[in-house]
Amino acid sequence: MKLDLEQTEFAAAVRAYAQEQVRPVIGDFYERGEFPIELVRGLGKLGVLGVTLPEEHGGAGMGLFMLGLALEEIARVDASVAVTVEASVTLGAEAIAKYGTAEQQAKWLPNLAAGQGLVAFALTEPGGGTDAGHTDTKARLEDGEWVIDGAKCFITNAGTAMTDLIITTAQTGPGEVTCIAVEPGTPGLQIGPEYSKVGWRASDTRPVYFDDCRVPEANIIGQRGRGFVQFLELLDSGRVAIAALATGSAQGCLDEALAHAKDREAFGRPIAENQSIAFMLADMKLRAHTSRLAWQDAALKAEAGEPFGTDAALAKLHASMAAVDNAREATQIFGGYGFMNETPVARAWRDCKVLEIGEGTNEVQRMLIARSMGL
Ligand SMILES: Cc1cc2nc3c(=O)[nH]c(=O)nc-3n(C[C@H](O)[C@H](O)[C@H](O)COP(=O)(O)OP(=O)(O)OC[C@H]3O[C@@H](n4cnc5c(N)ncnc54)[C@H](O)[C@@H]3O)c2cc1C
Repeated sequence: MKLDLEQTEFAAAVRAYAQEQVRPVIGDFYERGEFPIELVRGLGKLGVLGVTLPEEHGGAGMGLFMLGLALEEIARVDASVAVTVEASVTLGAEAIAKYGTAEQQAKWLPNLAAGQGLVAFALTEPGGGTDAGHTDTKARLEDGEWVIDGAKCFITNAGTAMTDLIITTAQTGPGEVTCIAVEPGTPGLQIGPEYSKVGWRASDTRPVYFDDCRVPEANIIGQRGRGFVQFLELLDSGRVAIAALATGSAQGCLDEALAHAKDREAFGRPIAENQSIAFMLADMKLRAHTSRLAWQDAALKAEAGEPFGTDAALAKLHASMAAVDNAREATQIFGGYGFMNETPVARAWRDCKVLEIGEGTNEVQRMLIARSMGL
């Protein structure tokens, strides 16, 4: 798709940041399992964290397409940083921008738009994530406060030093799910330790516990009992964003593998001169290209106000599989070096699998696509 000047310049600025600032150092953060806070703040200064937020609160007022361009460029270099942005913007900040009251927006959006804060969205529970409408976490109203009890797991951005807010889902009555914002430091909120993850090791993922955790009644995000509908809407955009991120990973694997195949010699010539390697690279290019078409098509439909849920599911399903396949083939092209943590494709190999799990597993995407055909 041909980009206009503003899109081209924004993508180029994010690409330069990813290549020049993230690429040289991210491997060390990854191995230490450390959250690269200054790199994320740097992206905030570039405007990436505020790109979709309203201009009146300091954002750029752009759409999902622009965010996708940024995520693709970041993930081309590193997925941990990309998912930090993705989770905060599409599921967290957008929840406030879309459903928050004027007071909530004035209170929380400026710092998020300025790229100095992050949001975590806590939906998944230890008892299950796919059955998202079933939530054991409960909240009851008492003396003008929500009193929350329960546990969430695998929550991205829950415990960073720049986390402003955790938006949790909770049952506020029989069959009634509601979103409630909880600020770090609230008594009764406990953030667990960082998980030891296979991939996305430089992103922050933690369990979250609520024990008699009290927040003002005004911290409800959107309408009481509309939480399930709200997060289903947000997840549609989230899936387009994850598809853009996956496209970046697929493209990054191609970038690395192509350069290596032209450079690495076996039997006295570059391995790229073997048709089996060249065909692998051709297939990798095809996957990155079709993934890009899929997320961009879904993003444009979203921005045009057209229904895009099925397109989002198609894009997420296709791009996540493309990323996994490209990571596997890039590792193969790198030979033994591809199995060494020092090479970016080894990181991609560890990172890509979770794309088939987060924001609705690929089984869920297939269910949605099948349902759209009346099945
Ligand atoms: C690194 C990471 C970051 C994450 N970040 C967040 C976050 O920020 N916020 C958040 O809320 N969650 C987050 N998650 C959780 C993620 O969204 C869930 O792991 C995911 O939705 C799957 O839920 P589950 O792990 O409970 O698997 P389960 O629901 O137990 O599913 C297990 C398997 O069964 C399959 N399955 C389940 N039901 C069906 C069915 N009806 N038909 C066919 N197959 C089915 C699933 O597709 C899956 O393959 C994160 C997870 C990871 C790993």
